[in-house]
Amino acid sequence: MNDDFAMRAALGLLCDYCVHDTPAVVFRQKRGFTMITPDAVLRFEDPWNACAACAQFVERRQIHLLLDRVMRLHPRHGEMNRPQKRLTRRMLKRMYMAMYDAGVEKPEPIAGPS
Ligand SMILES: [Zn+2]
Repeated sequence: MNDDFAMRAALGLLCDYCVHDTPAVVFRQKRGFTMITPDAVLRFEDPWNACAACAQFVERRQIHLLLDRVMRLHPRHGEMNRPQKRLTRRMLKRMYMAMYDAGVEKPEPIAGPS
């Protein structure tokens, strides 16, 4: 993972989905959720920042369109081989399904950069 992407995402400067564009809205979730991956246990409590493009897919629950976009813009897209891409996509899908299960609220606009 490129640390610069991770850092900017952590600061809320990048969309939490595609990690590519500036967030336009935030999706709060009703509950936190935990995801177990092969190398980590991840806990999600924070609202998700989404750019305008990802936000449409998230709100309409177009999970495959969202995954297509997220995979295409993935910071490691060029380095991953086919099985790695498949695995990443599967993990992201699981994470988004868990996010929906945790109850996603309506998007709220983010105030412009201050
Ligand atoms: Zn995005």
